[in-house]
Amino acid sequence: MDKPITQWQSTNMSVDTLSSSEPGPSSGDTHQPESELPITAAPLSNSPDTEKGLQDDAQSVAGPETDQIDDSDSEAEAEDPISTQPRKGAYWPAPKLEDIRGAIKDMEDILKPPRKNRHQSYKDPGFDKKSRKRLEDMLVFMRAYIRIKEGKESGLGGPTNAWTKASMNAARDLGYIKKGSKTPGDKKARELRKWVHDFIADREEIPICDWKTSGRSLIDDEDFAQEIHTHLQTLKPSEVCAEAIVRFLDNPEMLSRLKRKKTISVETAQRWLAKMGYRWTYDPKGQYADSHECSDVVGYQNNHFLPAMAQLQPRMTMWTSKDGERNDPPGVRRVVVWYHDESTFYAHDRCRKRWVHKDEKAKPYAKGEGHSLMVADFYSAEYGWLQSRDGKKRARVLFRAGKACDGYFDNDNVRTHLATAMEILTADYSDEEHVFVFDNAKTHSKRLEGSQSAMRMTKGPSANFFVEINDIGDDGRLQYSPDGKILKKKIPMSNGRFADGREQQFYWPADCGNELAGQFKGMVQILEERGYVNVSKKKAQCGKKFSDCSPGKTDCCCRRMVFSEPDFMTVESILEAEANSQGFRVLFLPKFHCELNPIEQCWGYAKRNYRLLPASSSETDL
Ligand SMILES: [Zn+2]
Repeated sequence: MDKPITQWQSTNMSVDTLSSSEPGPSSGDTHQPESELPITAAPLSNSPDTEKGLQDDAQSVAGPETDQIDDSDSEAEAEDPISTQPRKGAYWPAPKLEDIRGAIKDMEDILKPPRKNRHQSYKDPGFDKKSRKRLEDMLVFMRAYIRIKEGKESGLGGPTNAWTKASMNAARDLGYIKKGSKTPGDKKARELRKWVHDFIADREEIPICDWKTSGRSLIDDEDFAQEIHTHLQTLKPSEVCAEAIVRFLDNPEMLSRLKRKKTISVETAQRWLAKMGYRWTYDPKGQYADSHECSDVVGYQNNHFLPAMAQLQPRMTMWTSKDGERNDPPGVRRVVVWYHDESTFYAHDRCRKRWVHKDEKAKPYAKGEGHSLMVADFYSAEYGWLQSRDGKKRARVLFRAGKACDGYFDNDNVRTHLATAMEILTADYSDEEHVFVFDNAKTHSKRLEGSQSAMRMTKGPSANFFVEINDIGDDGRLQYSPDGKILKKKIPMSNGRFADGREQQFYWPADCGNELAGQFKGMVQILEERGYVNVSKKKAQCGKKFSDCSPGKTDCCCRRMVFSEPDFMTVESILEAEANSQGFRVLFLPKFHCELNPIEQCWGYAKRNYRLLPASSSETDL
């Protein structure tokens, strides 16, 4: 299954290093929830720091001498974005003074990163307001504690429970007080103590609210990020994963360099991968690997797929989630949705998706991956795996990928697969309407060669604007040059369509009588023929990359305008065209949303077991 790119999920504490097994008295956590807390996090309960002498504190309620810690605020805790591990009955003593001094220093650096030189301005660490406030509160608390302890050490005497006392003073000074509460600031005090403990144990553990938009961690150091990236590049693509980073850091030299006691958690490593521009997705492959198209395609598919499904739903059979009761749509031609999926079991890595860096280019599929077995099939809630009524014909395809085996599973194979499915359905299930849902992989959504695309169009006329395609020989196979490269040839881009349905030629006719005869018209001419004016004043493209245009704009530059034209937005894929011609329909799942395909769950279990097996190169193991 997809492992989502996680937000910060757990505090991942090293409980064992912080707590002793010695039971202590309760800190008297019986109080009202402090609803006026200025931060979203609900207070943490079950804090294990339970120092003696707290009962003397006028602000707290004496707890019974027992190791049971009250968790009366556990309901509020359920909303806490920071999960905490209960440490019932465990002592959590104050950290060492030197640890706190180190933590203060590092926290100051986090809030105000040191400048490389005097003239450089402070770099904004980019925290949101709430997160910054939390970190500043931690600083206030730690400094207060140091002051108390130093007062004591210099002979002035200090409270024996200085740690707890300091946290409560800090909480009150910071204004976390609820009127009428018997224990004002108590919850905030416990939060502060826990945050500081966490931070001392692991500098990656800072209680910030939203890791997506903020946060400073080791990975923000560009040199360090580059070092990890370089290491990942030495690995096979399929081996790039969060665990690889966890392992990379897990050696004494690295840990001492990073001033850490243990390596990072898998969750942290996943966050780092995301920060470094990796995404858990398919191999980049196929000729439409225009990555800058991605964001637009995602938006388009999200606006396209979900409404299309919503429209079909009234005619689909539904099952109640409670008792699985079947509800057929009354009196209409029923719609059956068939989900397509293909799953590759590699002898070496057995993984179809992997962490792909955003800059990674497409490369041939299944090269050097050892033996692999691909399974492709269609599945519906009504019928299960697609097969003829008598069970003799199945749509399932087993495919050994690789040059020496059955070649590569490309768009042609998917088309053949779809054709088989349509043949079975036409023969046995023609009383229903069938919709095929495919993942939005390049091999699935491939368009007819030479079909419309704004991507490489020139602004003005061009004698050289053509679409490069593979040169297919008379035998229907790819042609190779003597040095092994696939031979290409150039064809003109297919015609567009005006809003009224008439075809628009993108090349000047050979007999147009001017010097541009036969040349590509260019985006300005194409747009002006469509009724736009003053197009030539616009840039060809806003920025260096197509994705640099402001989000949501459709008329900022020539390329964005052409791209946003309806006929460009809805160029049919080959699969769609072939399905439509036989009375079927094809939908593509939005990119990066394969979880919408329930078939993933079917594979998930098998693949999970597969990956847990040791690596193997043997085909029989597959
Ligand atoms: Zn633009």
